Amino acid sequence: MLVLLGAPGAGKGTQAHVLARHFGLPRVATGDLFRGAARDGSPLGLAARGYMERGELVPDEITVEMLLERLDAPDAERGAILDGFPRTRAQAEALDRALAERGTVVDAALLVDVPTGELLQRLTGRWLCGAVGHTYHETAYPPRVPGICDIDGSALIQRDDDRPEIVKARLEKQLGALADVVEHYRAAGVLQAVDGRRPIASVTNDLLDAIEPIPYWRTSP
Ligand code: ADP
Ligand code: AMP
Repeated sequence: MLVLLGAPGAGKGTQAHVLARHFGLPRVATGDLFRGAARDGSPLGLAARGYMERGELVPDEITVEMLLERLDAPDAERGAILDGFPRTRAQAEALDRALAERGTVVDAALLVDVPTGELLQRLTGRWLCGAVGHTYHETAYPPRVPGICDIDGSALIQRDDDRPEIVKARLEKQLGALADVVEHYRAAGVLQAVDGRRPIASVTNDLLDAIEPIPYWRTSP
């Protein structure tokens, strides 16, 4: 199992899409699962919505249960690229326990490191494809055709919680817990940090270099 860590806007989703394609594994993003549940109007979605609108983390119990249910789907049997989970120490510990029961582990926790001062402009300029969430940025990484995803042709959208006032709340309320999660994986000896200020393709190369020495994840002969 690979875990992508980083502040909101650090580039986790961008890299998770690339790594998922590279390794032929599903990208599992708790933010996407919550947004899907909210769109469906399910009890889970309704429970999560208020927290998301305030920029707060959804409580651990709800989040862990939803994530573990997703990991039980057949497509995640060989592993997954986790994007946006775990976000608290309690989530990281719950994941460790659940993976141990399944006879597996977090092989690497990949921290995409970006200074806090750069996150606001990344998030307020973010556009996402409506189909699966491929990422664009209005100035740094615009799509070839305005408003259209280069990869699957779907219409691009902006997230409600990427408005500046909610971005500020997200950063204020979520960065403390990220530090705890980073410490958890540092102590476990699986933390790998890469410089997330570099261009997207360079960040991907740095991540692949960090993963390469791990036997299960080695892709070259
Ligand atoms: P996260 O999933 O961590 O919240 P995203 O992957 O959605 O972050 O990226 C946030 C924004 O930053 C998007 O607009 C994306 O295009 C842009 N972005 C991602 N990686 C980089 C990078 N290496 N350099 C500059 N902008 C980036
Ligand atoms: P994201 O798409 O990762 O930016 O997540 C959007 C929102 O979903 C966050 O601001 C949180 O409110 C919620 N969320 C996503 N993942 C988690 C998580 N692992 N724990 C708690 N809340 C989460």
